[in-house]
Amino acid sequence: MSFEVTSLRGNGVVDHRLARRHLINEFRRGRLRQDQVCDAHPELIRAARNVGSPASLACPICTEQELRLVTYVFGPRLPSHGRCVSTAEELAKLNARPDELTAYVVEACTGCRWHHLLRVIPIGRVKPVRRSS
Ligand SMILES: [Zn+2]
Repeated sequence: MSFEVTSLRGNGVVDHRLARRHLINEFRRGRLRQDQVCDAHPELIRAARNVGSPASLACPICTEQELRLVTYVFGPRLPSHGRCVSTAEELAKLNARPDELTAYVVEACTGCRWHHLLRVIPIGRVKPVRRSS
C-alpha cells in the first residue's frame, strides 16, 4: 500500500470545504461509521506526527486531538509519493521551480486518523529570467 495522491481524501473534489462538511455531517448523523472516515494512510499519520504543523483546530470526529496540517508537493522530478514539505522555506524553494507542481494541504488527526484535503495549490511554473548580457 503505497502513498500517492489518491491517498488524499477529497482529491478531485471541487469544493474541499463543502466535501469536508458533508462527510462530518454524515458521520454525526450516523450514516458513516468512524472507520469509514478515519482511515488515513499510515504515511500521512506519520508525517502529521513528525512534521505536521498544528492547525489550532480540534478534530471534528474525535474532538480530542488538535488537527495537524501536512503539505505534500507532487510534480516532475519529485518522488511519486510526493515530497512532504515541513517548512515555508522548503515550499518557497519548490515554488521557485519552473516545473508545474501541485501542493496539497491535508489535515489529519493523529488520534483517530481522520483526514481530509483542505487545499490544492498550483505552485512552481516560474519562467526562467532572461539575462541581458
Ligand atoms: Zn480525531
